[in-house]
Amino acid sequence: MSGAIGIFGGTFDPIHLGHRYLAEAAIAEAGLDKLIIMPAKIPPHKADAKIVSGEQRLEMCRLAFSDLDKAEISDHELGQEGKSYSYNTVRWLKESYPDSRICFIMGSDQLEVFDTWYRWQDILELADIIVLSREDGLAAEVLEKKAARFTDIPGKVTVIRVKPFEISSTKIRKMLGNNEDCSCYLDKKVIEYIKEEGLYNIAPQQGFDKKKYSSYKSYIKEHLSKKRAQHSMNVADAAVKLARLYNGNEEKAYVAGLLHDVCKEMPPEIQLEYVMRSPLDVSEYEKKTTALFHAVAGSVFIQEEFGIADPEIIRAVRYHTVACGDMDKLSQIIYIADLISDDRDYKDVKKMRKYVEQGLEKAMLEALKFSLADSVGKENTIPLCTLEAYNYFLKVRTK
Ligand code: ATP
Repeated sequence: MSGAIGIFGGTFDPIHLGHRYLAEAAIAEAGLDKLIIMPAKIPPHKADAKIVSGEQRLEMCRLAFSDLDKAEISDHELGQEGKSYSYNTVRWLKESYPDSRICFIMGSDQLEVFDTWYRWQDILELADIIVLSREDGLAAEVLEKKAARFTDIPGKVTVIRVKPFEISSTKIRKMLGNNEDCSCYLDKKVIEYIKEEGLYNIAPQQGFDKKKYSSYKSYIKEHLSKKRAQHSMNVADAAVKLARLYNGNEEKAYVAGLLHDVCKEMPPEIQLEYVMRSPLDVSEYEKKTTALFHAVAGSVFIQEEFGIADPEIIRAVRYHTVACGDMDKLSQIIYIADLISDDRDYKDVKKMRKYVEQGLEKAMLEALKFSLADSVGKENTIPLCTLEAYNYFLKVRTK
């Protein structure tokens, strides 16, 4: 094979969207025909770091690049005896592809220490370097000056001139350990894998026995229309998935999802009786608007009839139509699950499902924008708590 082949090595512990960003930029910049992603066995400069197994890092790389045709994941370094050195890998690649231009891809932090690498001059003999800045404010010109320390051959080191994506695996490991949301830094499939494997000290997959709640399921099947019962079950499933993705409580998500519409098909006067018994704050507007009764009524019904006392579940059912300021995670999950469950087929549902991939709060903000615009268009009154929710998520997102 002739043409250009890139080699992108790293610990990838875990692989993140900064890596992906660099990979795509390098493919475009150097016109690569192929980019080989190569998790390192024990990188010499990180030999004392505690890392997850090579097989797990390899699998995360496969997941993160599964949709990029030019990317190939290699276990070459993982299969070597002892420490892995980039020089050996580049030489192996050059021997495998003698007619190709070999491009070694790296971030600016690696360029800084390149002249400490084993046989770095020989790497430069065999390969060209493609580098991307990792810090905002670190200009391409500065990197070019640094590169001039190693070589004066034109084109030996190319600096990619795109805005840096500031993220590191170290930061992600810390965030995961604190159960923080990393969805804007990690591929969705990688997040799911990390959770399944229980990596980085994050809470293991919660798992619970859905049979515990079969009486709730029977109730909704008996008391709601077939369509509404199916919707409730779909919302419960969507809510569990969201809880898994965003470190929420899967069991509570299931229960709240299953029961969120439990009162929806009761006669309005019965619903209103439940509404009037709600200890939560209910506006005069909600007390007068039939379409809004069922959420408040449901939150009272599940306490009185099923003995549910969990305040998060109660709030999630109560606010699933109007939302509120300072909404907790479970309430957000149910609000969004209700909009994206499998049975939903409104015009913008695909867009909404995409927003969810960008974060729960992003999805909340977009959902509220849509709901407010719709209400304004129809000249409907807007409940104060919906406006508060909009202001809250706008502030969170702007931060
Ligand atoms: P750690 O925080 O554990 O040191 P890392 O985020 O630096 O990890 P590595 O696996 O060590 O990731 O990096 C592999 C390669 O990817 C290195 O060349 C590194 O410079 C580059 N790289 C990592 N993150 C970025 C990023 N956000 N932008 C550009 N290059 C990056």
